[in-house]
Amino acid sequence: MQVADWFSVDYSEAREKFLAAAAFAGAGLASFRNPAQGPRGETLYTDAAWLGPEDAETVLMTCSATHGIEGFCGSGAQVGTFRSGILRELPGNFALLAVHAINPHGFAWQRRVTEDNVDFNRNCIDHSGPHPRNGAYAEIHHLLVPAEWNGSSRDEADRGIENFIQTRGLAAFQAAVSGGQYDHPDGLFYGGRAPTWSNRTIHAIFERYLKTRRRVVFLDYHTGLGPSGYGELIGTHPPDSAGFARARSWFGDVTSPDDGSSSSAPIQGYIGMAMERALPRVEITAVALEYGTLPVPEVLEALRADNWLHLRGDLNSAQGVAIKNQVRAAFYVETPLWKQQVWHRAAEVTRKAARAVSGGN
Ligand SMILES: [Zn+2]
Repeated sequence: MQVADWFSVDYSEAREKFLAAAAFAGAGLASFRNPAQGPRGETLYTDAAWLGPEDAETVLMTCSATHGIEGFCGSGAQVGTFRSGILRELPGNFALLAVHAINPHGFAWQRRVTEDNVDFNRNCIDHSGPHPRNGAYAEIHHLLVPAEWNGSSRDEADRGIENFIQTRGLAAFQAAVSGGQYDHPDGLFYGGRAPTWSNRTIHAIFERYLKTRRRVVFLDYHTGLGPSGYGELIGTHPPDSAGFARARSWFGDVTSPDDGSSSSAPIQGYIGMAMERALPRVEITAVALEYGTLPVPEVLEALRADNWLHLRGDLNSAQGVAIKNQVRAAFYVETPLWKQQVWHRAAEVTRKAARAVSGGN
């Protein structure tokens, strides 16, 4: 089987390939049904595949589609993990927990967010406390969400954004937009005000599979930042923490959004935060594997277009189809080369992670 065959053209095909690959490897499966439906009325599920001893002390957990449409990449890597034979060369004293399509609605609808327009990887904060303020986002929210996509209000909004970038810089713009915000439910990178379905589901998965383990490595697949085909390992613990030090010693080239070494702006409410709160007795080492697609301004513009389409546009119009193609290209590079690059890096990281959780670096 060719690497490109592990990747899919839509959510339903990805789910089929994942379930078949997991069963082929002998994994046990559990499915969690999302209450919403896909664009063709499909039922939507998050699937969890467990491979290894039931009582394994150490677990490698992988996750795809945290950001919906980014699941094209993560799903392909997860299918490859089961299909490639890589598991046979790994030590036997650990378990693999592969969580497929944790945000199945975003995957099926080719959106980065969940069914309630929430960025799941900003949603994992403690919602009982005050929600973080993102003043820079508030300044530009009205520019990011123009009334019309073609017309004078869009032109005016574009000029406002250009002006923000010229005076404050592209990095400041990226941080303002992508850092996460909790005050504009119709905006971009909205973290929500309560745990979204994906958040509740991943907590059910933590409870069911991870609560009594000794150590867990969490590998979360993402796309949309960095040079095309390059897989950046981002440490999601604070740079001065034991978790970050472990990740760096195990993997080597681990970057941090908090010290400027990553292509990602600093963010809040990512899954690793929830994991540490939910599993206080488990040693957790969390990394994101972030693959590049298109330059940042193009990716952010695609998300802006998609948000406009979601709020005010028509999915079935020519404009709607064009915007969906723009979004897809921003998160999934459909070439054999890119898929090879994704798998090559995923295999390298999986080997290192498995060796590390098994206790022999
Ligand atoms: Zn992502």
